[in-house]
Amino acid sequence: VPSSPGPDSSGPDSSGPDLTELRTAVGDDHVLTDPDLRAGSERDWTGRFSGPSIAIVRPATVEQVAQVLRWCHEHDVAVVPQGGNTGLVGGGVPGGLGEADGRPTIVLSLRRLDSIGPVDGAAGQVTVGAGVVLARLQEAARTAGWAFAVDLSARGSATVGGMVATNAGGLHVVRWGSMRAQVVGVEAVLASGEVIRHLGGLLKDNTGYDLTGLLVGSEGTLAVVTAARLRLVPPIGPTVTALVACTSVADAVALAAEARRSLPGVVAIEAVWPGTLGFTARAFDLVVPVDLEDGGVALLAEVDETAGTVERLAAWSGDRPVAVATDSRGRAGLWALRERIADAIALSGIPHKLDVTLPFDRIAPFAAAVVASLPGLDVHLFGHLGDGNLHVNVLGAPPHDETVDDCVLRLVVELGGSISAEHGIGRAKRAWLPLCRSPAELETFRAIKAALDPRSILNPGVLLD
Ligand SMILES: Cc1cc2nc3c(=O)[nH]c(=O)nc-3n(C[C@H](O)[C@H](O)[C@H](O)COP(=O)(O)OP(=O)(O)OC[C@H]3O[C@@H](n4cnc5c(N)ncnc54)[C@H](O)[C@@H]3O)c2cc1C
Repeated sequence: VPSSPGPDSSGPDSSGPDLTELRTAVGDDHVLTDPDLRAGSERDWTGRFSGPSIAIVRPATVEQVAQVLRWCHEHDVAVVPQGGNTGLVGGGVPGGLGEADGRPTIVLSLRRLDSIGPVDGAAGQVTVGAGVVLARLQEAARTAGWAFAVDLSARGSATVGGMVATNAGGLHVVRWGSMRAQVVGVEAVLASGEVIRHLGGLLKDNTGYDLTGLLVGSEGTLAVVTAARLRLVPPIGPTVTALVACTSVADAVALAAEARRSLPGVVAIEAVWPGTLGFTARAFDLVVPVDLEDGGVALLAEVDETAGTVERLAAWSGDRPVAVATDSRGRAGLWALRERIADAIALSGIPHKLDVTLPFDRIAPFAAAVVASLPGLDVHLFGHLGDGNLHVNVLGAPPHDETVDDCVLRLVVELGGSISAEHGIGRAKRAWLPLCRSPAELETFRAIKAALDPRSILNPGVLLD
């Protein structure tokens, strides 16, 4: 039985644990028990996942995080780490009905751990708190003459801790890789309250198990990340953006491959299917500057501007209709067609959001099959085509009806893909994890979980049963 996205159940049990020690640890103002103050942290960005907590707890230092976890460990209280609450798989909010194991839950907000250290110019690195919002990190790197490589449209809210925990991908993976490739070290608090810290920034350091690597993508189930040492890249831009009308999905996949092979300085390769393009343009009154044929796909490419870039883009796009923007206004206009899709969908209802990767030669058959297998529903297709990563967003099915998820995820696996490209497993996809991971792998996951979090207080119900 798939795990349940749950409707809200009642508030915290009045007979729950005494929170006095927690209040002493983090300050009275930072233990929020009022239902109105808790509400925003108990429901996810999509509105599909929600569940009750006894309090939202907001520590400001690693020592306070450690005190909170020690208290939770001692009192058998479950902990849901939360950053910007932009995650899309229900991993950053408490479980709903049918998920609770009877234990009280706190949401541990890391937003107040928001310090940004000085940029280490010699190493090209910076150490930042888990609560630093991506846009602030990007700005700090830019000011110091560097750039942070990962970018995603939730940049105004997503935090470094959440991005480490989900191994966030985003728009620039085709050039610099996902979060895993940027994280040089982390500081984290274990379920017991012990602090592990590896923030020295050494690029070569073969001294045993790679605990940083283990925590990247662990979705808050193994430890609470409190800080990260991050690699920076040379400044990005100026860039040129091109929107190309490809004749078919296979044509778009081939053109994306050609961009990776022959276009120097590719920063992003995105794709949007025509129904979704028109839907987003109508929702926000945006202009679509190229006409797409039936069955076509719009490919959006962002490339470093150097001498001859515009000519190279023209040659690359061949005789396909193309719009090229070199100025910031024109580029923003083209990017809005991609970046506002999630908002347009959110305005229309609660979607089933499925983020998947396919082998490149299976993307076209997958796109055709997924639309055909969900008749009567609004199926939106878009994503990071340069990485083989598609977002399948489905509107029109009730939030708790998991037949949509089942249908899409089984199709992905049949075609040799992964059920999670970048958003993680969370609560949303837990039931399907055995489709992609062998019993031996899952046993290893459980052994690691049991070693680091023997009482299973960290995000129970996320990733593993
Ligand atoms: C409009 C929109 C666009 C998006 N685009 C992309 C995209 O292109 N690529 C992409 O990868 N994602 C994307 N996302 C998803 C989301 O932004 C990322 O998953 C992001 O990394 C979540 O960060 P957060 O701070 O909001 O984490 P949250 O949502 O708060 O938490 C996410 C997970 O991380 C855990 N967690 C949070 N903080 C910590 C911590 N300090 N220590 C341990 N565990 C922690 C939570 O328990 C949860 O399991 C998008 C989301 C939205 C709404």
